[in-house]
Amino acid sequence: MKFAENHNQAAEYLRQAVPLMVKHNIPPNPLNYALWYTYVSDRVPELNIQLDKTLTTYGTCPTMLSEQLFREHMIKDEINGAEDVQASLISLINDLHEHAGDTAEKTESFNSILEESLGTLQQSEDGEPSLPLESVIHALSSHTKSISETARQFQERMHAAQAEIQSLKEELNKTRQDARVDPLTNLFNRRAFDSELEQLVGSNSDDIISSFILVDIDHFKRFNDTYGHLMGDKVLQYVGKLLKDACPEPMLPVRFGGEEFAVLMPGTSKEKASEIAEQVRQKIQAIRIKQKKSGEIISSITASFGVSQLNTDETAEQLVERTDKALYKAKDSGRNQVQISI
Ligand code: GH3
Ligand code: MG
Ligand code: MG
Repeated sequence: MKFAENHNQAAEYLRQAVPLMVKHNIPPNPLNYALWYTYVSDRVPELNIQLDKTLTTYGTCPTMLSEQLFREHMIKDEINGAEDVQASLISLINDLHEHAGDTAEKTESFNSILEESLGTLQQSEDGEPSLPLESVIHALSSHTKSISETARQFQERMHAAQAEIQSLKEELNKTRQDARVDPLTNLFNRRAFDSELEQLVGSNSDDIISSFILVDIDHFKRFNDTYGHLMGDKVLQYVGKLLKDACPEPMLPVRFGGEEFAVLMPGTSKEKASEIAEQVRQKIQAIRIKQKKSGEIISSITASFGVSQLNTDETAEQLVERTDKALYKAKDSGRNQVQISI
């Protein structure tokens, strides 16, 4: 997207955008500036419709949605463009690679033909002084040898460049993920959760309700001791998947730490949140794992849940603490149940 406003117009848009961002507790980062600048300039009507809808539902624009809107409405062409460039670069390298291979082969065979002719010439002359033709072929032969060598080196270099591009791509993807994603469950991690919760709490108002769930697997230490840590890891992965399936965007299921999970639910009442928690609880209770060695069916996995609705003027810390109390009540009351914080 290009911005062609003159200085005064641009300054005016910024003057309008900043108070709106403050009002809706939008983190002041460059992505959000661009988003809200575009919003006040009214140049992408579909973006304004989506942002208005988001504000009505959540009272703010959760970071994940901001990123999504930015991608969809502001840099779509650039992303597609960048992908095109990357694809054509890779195909160019592939072409070069093939081409260089061809060249090496061709020059190699040309070279051997020349060598053969030279041999024939040498034999037929039988001790006679070399013909000028022979020295020409000599020169040609050594020339093609060097062409062939250069082409081979070129091919090797292209090969190395290709491998490097691939590993850079993988590295980039990994660093992007590392900061916010838990590698075992592929859920977002505590760090991603903290920043999202901070924003949600900051934009809290009487009109918008948001809820929060804490999940803790019951007697998980005992489970690990009985069935092994690897089996424990599998359970964590499976519970993570159950939560992800039950809590679509903009709900944010995360691995909170160890055998604890959390779900942030913008725009969701505690009644709806506890309904979802109850469904997940039943699905966890229904997990059956057959042990390969003994054939034993493991059916003892359960989890306890604390659910709460964000109060006006409550801090993120207070919300987590209150939900933790509900979770402890679920543990104290016999585990494998959902408790709602009053
Ligand atoms: P409670 O019902 O009171 O929650 O009991 P608990 O045993 O689940 O709680 P406790 O806090 O005593 O133990 C948590 C266990 O979770 C201990 C630890 O080995 C296990 N755990 C934490 N992270 C991982 C992990 O990444 N993989 C596996 N396999 N186990 C983990
Ligand atoms: Mg625990
Ligand atoms: Mg536990």
